[in-house]
Amino acid sequence: MPGRLFVLAGPTAVGKGTVAAGIREQHPEVYLSVSATTRPPRPGEVDGVHYHFVSVEEFDRLVEQGQMLEWAVVHGVHRYGTPRGPVQQAVDDDRPALLEIDLQGARQVRETMPEAVFVFLKPPSWEELVRRLVGRGTETEEERERRLDTARRELAAESEFDVTIVNREVPQAVAELVALMVGPPDGEASPHDFDPTNSEA
Ligand code: 5GP
Repeated sequence: MPGRLFVLAGPTAVGKGTVAAGIREQHPEVYLSVSATTRPPRPGEVDGVHYHFVSVEEFDRLVEQGQMLEWAVVHGVHRYGTPRGPVQQAVDDDRPALLEIDLQGARQVRETMPEAVFVFLKPPSWEELVRRLVGRGTETEEERERRLDTARRELAAESEFDVTIVNREVPQAVAELVALMVGPPDGEASPHDFDPTNSEA
């Protein structure tokens, strides 16, 4: 797999984490960024593996020190951000790297690393997204409503991305993302060549 930065975004509960984990399983050489967050861990989440769980003070210090590649307040509550160092290291080592972040973060990375490939993961339908969020059962009713509000706005941003993958079944979505990350045979156009200023692209 060529060394390149991929940004995977998409609404809540669409399965970004599951798809990203599937990529790592098949391609352990991919660097999967571990975000910092001020959200408390959910049962089963491990510090340093799923997230770096930090206090608000610690998070703000990392931002002030310029150690975040991007960061955002997601769903109006907690801060989430991508530590810059390990991503830069992966890129320098010519390793493929994958960030699983929200829309605000993807927009920031677009500004600073426009050579990255931006992938939008979307659900087969709105009803399916609601079903997955409710089925996950990790949020309160209020949190769920807030996440669905964000999801409505995020779904409207699909056209900002280089590629859309519909997450019907996880193995199929993983396979599509792997194909994208492996890249087309030499000489063929790739999403990397995508020119957002060209409306015919
Ligand atoms: P959760 O609380 O369910 O783990 O994540 C909530 C949202 O935060 C998801 O949409 C996820 O993509 C986003 N997120 C996770 N890490 C980051 C990050 O480092 N930066 C940004 N901007 N969003 C993130």
